[in-house]
Amino acid sequence: MSEYTQGVCHDGAAILKDGQPLSIEHILEALMEADQQSLTFDRFRQANNQRQLEWPGYEQTDTTFKALEVCGEAGELAEAVKKLIRAERGIAGSTVGLDAVADELADVLISADLLAAHLGIDLSKAVIKKFNKTSMKYGLETKLGEDHQ
Ligand SMILES: [Mg+2]
Repeated sequence: MSEYTQGVCHDGAAILKDGQPLSIEHILEALMEADQQSLTFDRFRQANNQRQLEWPGYEQTDTTFKALEVCGEAGELAEAVKKLIRAERGIAGSTVGLDAVADELADVLISADLLAAHLGIDLSKAVIKKFNKTSMKYGLETKLGEDHQ
């Protein structure tokens, strides 16, 4: 992985990649690429809803099914974490790597977003509200949202 640092070149401040100054064109290219790779709740919801329409039998799913799906994915996550722990501690049995845990974490988020969409819940607002509620409950300073970023 490349290391980015700041430095000074002939004509002023510079961003260095592995010790070499980047041109403005390279910086802009990297920023645009990073922007395309970032995922917002809105883009996530839009793709999730679109793919849901492509899923054979989706019209047969209801709140109960979608809630069970979240629980099922949480169970798969627990299983993956257990197998990761086996790998880390040398316990006999099937093992997985961190990529399998990441896959199941993603499945939990995807299924949770589908349930939220089905119930008409804005997950972005819900996360901000609950995050801040917990921060306030425990007297923590870190909060999310426009006033707290
Ligand atoms: Mg899964």
